[in-house]
Formats: sequence, C-alpha cells, structure tokens
Amino acid sequence: MALIVQKYGGTSVGTVERIKNVAKKVERYRDQGHDVVVVVSAMSGETNRLIALANEIHDQPPARELDVLVTTGEQVTIALLSMALQKDGYDARSYTGAQVRILTDDAYGKARIQAIDADRIRKDLEKGRIVVVAGFQGVDEDGNITTLGRGGSDTTGVALAAALKADECQIYTDVDGVYTTDPRVVPNARRLEQITFEEMLEMASLGSKVLQIRSVEFAGKYNVPLRVLSTFEEGPGTLITVDQEETMEQPVISGIAFNRDEAKITVRGVPDMPGAAYKILGPVGEANIEVDMIVQNVSADGTTDFTFTVHKNELRKALDVLKNVAAELGAKEIQGDASIAKVSIVGVGMRSHAGVASKMFKLLANESINIQMISTSEIKISVVIDEKYLELAVRALHTGFELDRDAAAK
Ligand code: ADP
Ligand code: ASP
Ligand code: MG
Repeated sequence: MALIVQKYGGTSVGTVERIKNVAKKVERYRDQGHDVVVVVSAMSGETNRLIALANEIHDQPPARELDVLVTTGEQVTIALLSMALQKDGYDARSYTGAQVRILTDDAYGKARIQAIDADRIRKDLEKGRIVVVAGFQGVDEDGNITTLGRGGSDTTGVALAAALKADECQIYTDVDGVYTTDPRVVPNARRLEQITFEEMLEMASLGSKVLQIRSVEFAGKYNVPLRVLSTFEEGPGTLITVDQEETMEQPVISGIAFNRDEAKITVRGVPDMPGAAYKILGPVGEANIEVDMIVQNVSADGTTDFTFTVHKNELRKALDVLKNVAAELGAKEIQGDASIAKVSIVGVGMRSHAGVASKMFKLLANESINIQMISTSEIKISVVIDEKYLELAVRALHTGFELDRDAAAK
C-alpha cells in the first residue's frame, strides 16, 4: 500500500463529465488499497475568466483581492470532485489551501510555500478518506489568501507529496508525458521515458509549461518521485529522475523549450563607462521588474548598446522607468520590441560534446533566421529571434538534433 499524491490540471477537470472521470481514476487507486491525496486546478479557462473580470473593474487589480478572486476557481473543483467521489460511495473531504494550512509568504500572485501542516490530512487518510486539496493557493501568517503563480497547482501537488513523504507524485494532464518539445507545436515530438530534474528545471524555466518550475525545484530538493501522465489515456508517462551518469548513448539534446512571453529593450549609445549597466538595471530591479537575458557590446565610437529582455507584461513599465535613466546617462535612444521569442535547446549531454552551439546556429542560418541575442549555460543554449519564425526555428532544431519521432524509430 502506497501513499500517492495525484494532481489533475484544468483540462482534466474542465467539465462535469471530466470531473466524474477523474473520480473514477482516483477510485481505482483507492480500490487497490492506496492512500490518495488529490490536488486539482480550476476548470480550464476559469482562472483566465476571473482575471478578465478583475481587469474590467480595475486596470491594475489590487494583488490581494485578485488572489481572493482567482482562488475561487479551485474551490469549485475540490467541492465537485469530493461530491463525485461521495456519490460513488467513497469517503472524501475537500480542503482549501488555507484549511490545510499551506503556509506561504505574503507575495500575492507569486507566493512561496513555507510550511505545510500535514496532520489534518494524515488523520483523514487514517480514517480511510480520500483528501481533495485546492491547488495553486495558500495562506500567509496573517490569514490572507495567496496564490503560487500561474500553473501553481503542480507545486501544491509536489509540496504536499514532500510534506506527506508520499511514495509518488503523479501530475495528470492533457498530454501523456514530457515531450522533446511542445507536441502542439511539433507534432513529430517524442515522449521521453525519463528526464533528469536538472533538464526539467531548465525546460520549465525556459518556457515549457507542462510543469511549473517551482514544482520541479521542490521535487528535486525533497527527492519526490515525480511522474507526468495523461488523464485521458493509460501509459507510463515520463519519470523525472535524479541526475543519471552520463552514458555514451546520452543524447546531446534532450529537449527544446520556447517562450513567447518576453520583450526586448535596447538602450542605444550609452557612454561606455563604469557603472552604466548598474545605472540601467538598478532602477529596473527596484521597480520589481525581472530581467532575463542581457547583452552589451562596445562599438568603435566609445558608446555601448545595452540590450536585455523582460516579461512582455512589464515592457511598458520598464520603458517608463528607463526614460529618466536614459536622459541622465546621455543615452541616444531606447527601443522596445515585443515581437520576439526565445528558443532554447536543453541537454546534460552538452557538457561532454563540443560544437553544439555552432550546430544550432547553422541550423537556424539554413532557415535564414536571424539571431538577435544568445545566452548559454552548461546545459542550455538560448537564442532570441523574431517571433514570426518561432515555429520554423523549433521544427528545424528538432529535426536537426534528431529528436523527431520518426528519426528515433530508424
Ligand atoms: P494542466 O492544465 O494539466 O496543468 P498545462 O496546459 O499547464 O496543463 O500543461 C500541459 C501542456 O504543456 C500541454 O498541453 C502542452 O501543450 C504543453 N507543453 C509545453 N511543452 C511541453 C513538453 N515539452 N512536453 C509536454 N507538454 C508540453
Ligand atoms: N488555475 C491556476 C492557473 O490557471 C493554477 C493551475 O492550473 O495550476 O494558473
Ligand atoms: Mg499546468
């Protein structure tokens, strides 16, 4: 008998029929004698619908109230799923994040879990109950409702699994595992039997939303066996594993991630002197705007062009902050460009292979795709390109690095 935490995403609970289907899946595990804790997301589209309502009332909805609003989505699904289980004759209890006492800090909209009181859940499990917990939400020390960021139900699932020392955390979603890249963009993408935490962390942070990045961090830190599976079809899914020894057969590239959510800012003609980068990025950081890639280049005339990326939602705010800074610095002009995309190749195999970057650049050149920015780490290479070439780039890299399903079958 095992203790299993199962998380079901928005599509998996998107209709009443689907909620009944989830109940049946949970019941099958219970019938096998396992203890089951279920985490659910809001019905698909619901969180977006609630955010849109808030935006109709207020152009910058107060963060505390927005969290109160969006957490209602998950409160609906926990209650409905518990009812479905009870209708089938199973003892089930639903709990919001605050009821469990998933304690977080007070950073509304992106709160971090600090502690989970697992006692109540354990008591219910001892009584033979199925416990259904609302994903994506917690409560701060003062009792305010918080949320964990978009896609945060994954993190609730993994954090509960860690707190309960569960035997496995199963993430049920609308694809049957983690693929070499988003299968909706590359139909030829291949399901991975397994992927290391390290690679999954990069994939998630570079834009693969199949798992929220914090859930992978949690699973790695607390050694939670984590598996991504389909709600709609049977199968082994993908196991996220602790880093394996690199073998000869290790593919150089395990996956390709991409992100359409970033925008590029260029400050042109900055006098080349100590402190310039700090003067530009200092105020941006103070305005709580996260910066991702940064490139700076000195030209022959003694000025530098300073380019960096931020989230698209924060482009306007960043440009506003920079207006004053640029004048102070004597920079010539500031440009914002929201029509960019970031494409990244990820793989621990890169450590032991040379020439991966040049192969990537050649594959993009073959498609006449211009690279605007580059950044690398030990196990990833990212480039910024024009958004309109994103799908072309991902497909060319996927084929070029022999990730296509057909290529593997040969
Ligand atoms: P859920 O609502 O179940 O949390 P999400 O929409 O958050 O589901 O995540 C699943 C989606 O992630 C898939 O439908 C797929 O389009 C997308 N995705 C992006 N990259 C990958 C990848 N490498 N492997 C699998 N799915 C991916
Ligand atoms: N419902 C939340 C969202 O849409 C959390 C989740 O689905 O994981 O982001
Ligand atoms: Mg998700």
